[in-house]
Amino acid sequence: MTIAKPKIVVSACLDLQPVRYNGLFVKDDFVIKLKNYCEFITICPELSVNLGVPRDRIIVYKSDDDFRLYQTSKNIDLTDEMRSFSNKFLNSLSGFDGFLLKGKSPSCAIGNALVYKDKEAKVYHAKGRGMFGAEVIKKFPNFPTEDEGRLKNVNIKQNYLIRIFSIANIRESMLKINNIKGLMEFHRENKYLLMAFNQQKLKAMGSLIAKYQKDSDFEETKKTYFDLFVSSLASRTSKGKYLNVLQHIFGYFSDKLNPNERNYFISLTEKYFNNIVDLKTLIEILKIWSYRFEDKYILEQTILSPYPDDLG
Ligand code: SF4
Repeated sequence: MTIAKPKIVVSACLDLQPVRYNGLFVKDDFVIKLKNYCEFITICPELSVNLGVPRDRIIVYKSDDDFRLYQTSKNIDLTDEMRSFSNKFLNSLSGFDGFLLKGKSPSCAIGNALVYKDKEAKVYHAKGRGMFGAEVIKKFPNFPTEDEGRLKNVNIKQNYLIRIFSIANIRESMLKINNIKGLMEFHRENKYLLMAFNQQKLKAMGSLIAKYQKDSDFEETKKTYFDLFVSSLASRTSKGKYLNVLQHIFGYFSDKLNPNERNYFISLTEKYFNNIVDLKTLIEILKIWSYRFEDKYILEQTILSPYPDDLG
């Protein structure tokens, strides 16, 4: 199974570009590794609104029901300029799979920027989004968007990787699929992946394909399927949902295994539930059995290899 190459929009300072307010960049080992497997579309919103490097501090503050972006030292309100740049940039994007933005930034943060009570920036109000990060989430709520800090959490990282590589897979596949048979095959290969995220949408995608008629508009069906797929992956997943998928796949082999193998796998699923064993370990065992029993249907399931092993 070949793994697609995601295209992700990345804060330029995370891609080792010296564009931060102080002329430095951020060195993050995971981002450096990720670049080997992804295409980065880099952007520095603050440079794009001509703030230059180095630059004075800018802040986000709450103003009535809105948030403003402000450069205190020069008494400049940058809100309209940043929103206008963000909308223009985001509207120009196509064929991408997600975002990786710098945390804690008044421009790029997706949830942990310091938001002040007023433009004096002496009293802290709450944590919130940077001005660019807020526009990203408003315009693309279903696309995976994370910051480098949150990706230190292994569950958040795995979920992000599954989503960006799966969206890259459907984006690349849709360029090649030109009939309903091709779409059915894609759907079959992604059945257990989708089941781990959203069973209702999995069914809706199956019924979209089942209802397809000779005179249906195939491009329209593909688009609806793509949107359902991406929104499905935006659903909250859980250990319970993954466990359900693991048990379904295990069901393909259980009567071919000896009692010790069966019991050992069941004990590992309990350990997974209790955070002692991770999901990858169980998936690797199922992968070994699908090779051993030459189960082509399971071997083709994308959930068995959702992203390159190197990425953790
Ligand atoms: S956090 Fe965003 S705005 Fe700030 S330097 Fe990095 S890319 Fe530029």
